[in-house]
Amino acid sequence: MTTRIPGIHHVTAISGPAQANVDFFTGTLGQKLVKKTVNFDAPDTYHLYYGDAAGSPGTILTFFPFADAGPGRAGPGMASAYAYAIPASGFDGLMEDLALAAIDFAGPEERFGARVITLRDPDGAPVELIESAAATDRHGFHSVTLWERDPERTVRLLADVFGYEDGGSEQAGGITRQRLVAPGAERGNIVDVIRDEAPSIARPGAGTIHHVAFRARTQDEQEGWIDRLASVGHRTTPVIDRQYFNAIYFREPGGVLFEIATDPPGFAVDEAPETLGQALKLPPQYESIRDRIERVLPPLTVAR
Ligand code: ZN
Repeated sequence: MTTRIPGIHHVTAISGPAQANVDFFTGTLGQKLVKKTVNFDAPDTYHLYYGDAAGSPGTILTFFPFADAGPGRAGPGMASAYAYAIPASGFDGLMEDLALAAIDFAGPEERFGARVITLRDPDGAPVELIESAAATDRHGFHSVTLWERDPERTVRLLADVFGYEDGGSEQAGGITRQRLVAPGAERGNIVDVIRDEAPSIARPGAGTIHHVAFRARTQDEQEGWIDRLASVGHRTTPVIDRQYFNAIYFREPGGVLFEIATDPPGFAVDEAPETLGQALKLPPQYESIRDRIERVLPPLTVAR
């Protein structure tokens, strides 16, 4: 049996100051901070994970907040947006709530027959909310959008290797949007690949997406992806232990950094499910310098 990618595991983005990020994603959007840790490659900065109460794959949005990150700009070769799926029955109510709270949003507009509204996070990055008949809460992803100069090679990778199916295409305002859907209706099972006629150059920085992580249900599945991707010319990194999942990375043909992350062990591996996100958690290699790390990280308050 051929293994397919069931959907998105997480999306990781770069933000400005951490407190504004926490306030927006836990307050305005009602996501749960499920893990407060550090960037394993730069432990003097936070790595914040938002999701549903358990931090389920397909709900996880993560940020590397840099207090002095310059503003970035999405462009070709970058993931340009992620979208949350909003239960269709609650979509009108959500728009009313946002309007009452004086939270600005663009739309609604139609995309593949569903309404989309777009909020801006504190760094100006788009946060898309899309009505969905399948959604049961507001925590799961609907889709990610990849902005490509030459979408065809990316579409082929998603279809021929990852096992995504053609979901049709749409054109609006000079933007062609091709939809790919992972069969199985898991959360975050949609990838939209767009091409914009207007010239633009991507610039990494605050408000941009760093990478998109797809799911492997098991470590065996992940090992299988290393071989499968190698057989079509994509060399991945070795398996990297990210404490809450194992990760492999590679650049897709258009330049977007892809990760394949395992569902296990999950976020309850180092703290109780009821208290996820409350304490600063460090991987074993940094416990010996916890004092120093705690001194340089800015304090964070999470409203409850
Ligand atoms: Zn990642």
